[in-house]
Amino acid sequence: MSARPTGTGRERWEAVIGLEIHVQLNTRTKMFCGCEVTFGEPPNTRVCPVCLGHPGVLPVTNEKAVEYATRIALALDCRIADRTIFHRKNYFYPDLPKAYQISQYDLPLGIGGHLHVELEDGSNLRVGITRVHMEEDAGKLIHAGGASGRIDGADYSLADFNRGGTPLVEVVSEPDISTPDQARAYLVQLRNLVEQLGVSDVNMEEGSLRCDANVSVRKPGDPLGTKTELKNMNSFRFLHRGLEAEIERQIEALESGESIVQETVHFDPATGTVSTLRSKEEAHDYRYFPEPDLTPIELDAAYVERVRAGLPELPAARKERLAGQYGLPPKDAGLLAANKPLGDYFEALAGATGDARTSANWVLGDFSAYLNTAGLEVAECPVTVAALTELLGLIADGTLSGKMAKEVFETMTSTGESARSIVAERGLGQISDAGELDAIVARIVAANPGPAEEFRQGRDRVLGFFVGQVMKETKGQANPQMVNDLLRKHLGSQVSQG
Ligand code: ADP
Ligand code: ZN
Ligand code: MG
Repeated sequence: MSARPTGTGRERWEAVIGLEIHVQLNTRTKMFCGCEVTFGEPPNTRVCPVCLGHPGVLPVTNEKAVEYATRIALALDCRIADRTIFHRKNYFYPDLPKAYQISQYDLPLGIGGHLHVELEDGSNLRVGITRVHMEEDAGKLIHAGGASGRIDGADYSLADFNRGGTPLVEVVSEPDISTPDQARAYLVQLRNLVEQLGVSDVNMEEGSLRCDANVSVRKPGDPLGTKTELKNMNSFRFLHRGLEAEIERQIEALESGESIVQETVHFDPATGTVSTLRSKEEAHDYRYFPEPDLTPIELDAAYVERVRAGLPELPAARKERLAGQYGLPPKDAGLLAANKPLGDYFEALAGATGDARTSANWVLGDFSAYLNTAGLEVAECPVTVAALTELLGLIADGTLSGKMAKEVFETMTSTGESARSIVAERGLGQISDAGELDAIVARIVAANPGPAEEFRQGRDRVLGFFVGQVMKETKGQANPQMVNDLLRKHLGSQVSQG
């Protein structure tokens, strides 16, 4: 144990994070052969001599995969290289029958882009994109027999090459991210963006979106510290927890005088701890060299512009449009634009209710909060646009107060019932019937001549007493604004009568 100051020491550290994200493309065929890209087929049924790496065969680049990769690179504002080539990345592993992966090295497809990430607090983080490159996926190993599928305890391993040769795009970020929250927001928004481009299933559980996180810590103003790499952070939560644990570990180590070794570290979600491997295996030498069997790719300006013209409305442009068209504050417009289904939901709701501000408040407030806690996607939410439109209508016509509407919304999410039927069933609805309230107010004013007189003498505070009486009588369901107006009318009118 080293003697170090307790308390606020760790606050003097800041984290530096860069993410490497692999996107599996959903082209019909593989990167360099005509085998189908599939998921869940019987093992080794979607293979051929090319993707199995037999000698004497020639790979041919999948034009669709290049187009999809170009879409991703352009959506991230990258510059598309005039000339891009493939390299062989040599290493031995049983899921890689060629003993090299065809990837890109010093001439990647796209460089120098960025993504604007909308953060919860309404601020905006610009994450630089170092490079976007194309490569092929490896096969899959299934560790069987012995200890429950773990490589170190299995009796034998089976190789399935169906996935081998599937087109991948790797997106490498600059180390511009400084907290686990930001890292998660970046990954969420990158996923949303790629999903919108229609080039990948972006399913983290099935591995069509994979994330490696690089992280180091330093004192503000210091040069970059030594980084470690968390591999295969395959859910948003996992990424967040893994980074938190690793940042904590690095700070503890540095605070106690140890140094950080550049290596891959393993996050165990069961224990929430990080373990280091400390092996020399980390010192890879891939012996990259240009792939001699593939021609360089030269994408001319006309091609790039054609692909660019085919891109859908991207978050940055949508943010501008939402702010202008609906008069939303930039923060709201940014959050809605960053999530395509949420933005679509909002626009449908705003169209149906005719009240964009209230619609945005609900979509970003109660609606998003519910999705977050329930862990649901917009499409899975039981409250449809039509159902929420009905609820907002009941607020607009005075049937429900804002507070009551929140409770009705909660019931809608759990039972799937409509707002109207919940209101009817529970006798909820606020009393906004002018005639009904007028009678109640008149009765209460008549029954309390003393306080009524006080009010007329100028003691405005007495109004609160009357509001309380009306609310008691109506079990809190009277429309507060109407009660106020009616009370002033009745208390005032007695002056002129008297
Ligand atoms: P390597 O050569 O080890 O793969 P790269 O320079 O290619 O490292 O960077 C890989 C990823 O690590 C990138 O996303 C980059 O932003 C990030 N990165 C680089 N240096 C650091 C650092 N000191 N701390 C955190 N992340 C870093
Ligand atoms: Zn094949
Ligand atoms: Mg690298």
